[in-house]
Amino acid sequence: MTDQYRTGQEAEGAVRGVPGTRGEGSAGPGEEVADAWAELVATARRTVADGLVVGTSGNVSVRVDDTVLVTPSGVPYDRLAPADVTGVDLTGRQVIGTLVPTSELPLHLAVYRTTGARAVVHTHAVHATAVSTLVDELPAIHYMTAALGGPVRVARYATYGTPELAGNTLHALDGRTGCLMRNHGTLTHGATLAQAYDRTAQLEWMCRVWLTASSVPGLTPTLLTPDQLAEAGERLRGYGQRG
Ligand code: 13P
Ligand code: ZN
Repeated sequence: MTDQYRTGQEAEGAVRGVPGTRGEGSAGPGEEVADAWAELVATARRTVADGLVVGTSGNVSVRVDDTVLVTPSGVPYDRLAPADVTGVDLTGRQVIGTLVPTSELPLHLAVYRTTGARAVVHTHAVHATAVSTLVDELPAIHYMTAALGGPVRVARYATYGTPELAGNTLHALDGRTGCLMRNHGTLTHGATLAQAYDRTAQLEWMCRVWLTASSVPGLTPTLLTPDQLAEAGERLRGYGQRG
């Protein structure tokens, strides 16, 4: 972060307002916050590096107990330092830091209040945003639809940062871990930042597949049936390595 946000007396790596963070030479509850913040910043930077957002678009959050760490509004992710930790409680009251939290705070908090999510990722990914302007639901073009809980809905449009957008998005998320936001972008959540991020990447990839397949003149892509999706969903529960 830039010097304007520093007190000048902080140890490198310390979190403003949180004792026990790295840089103060002692372990404590703040260490969990410092680690979660480092992972949050890495995830936010990855959304830019992977082309899912441009500039300061999008936002990321992670829950540590009843504190929600969020990206600050309008701050380039490559300028975020350990001392810039920004945290709120579940009512939105700022409990860590001085930077203004993301404008989509109502949306992130609504997800934490109504789901078991521990991490939330919001992006303006190109293909997903394009699809959000064309349909009310992403057609089931691929079995990874099941990994998000079923066909991905498009939330009704509302102005960014409003409680109305939070409500519309929650509605579209019902029974799903991700949705599109009309003329805006994506929202996914997960048990970890890695899982929430991966769901965004998979969603963007599926939108790209559907746009690609459906743009071939004279041909219409086949879609998966509800039974095929259910079977894939069942199998995905055992996907990957055991244990
Ligand atoms: P913030 O910079 O306030 O997080 O806003 C970005 C955004 O994507 C709003 O929808
Ligand atoms: Zn946005």
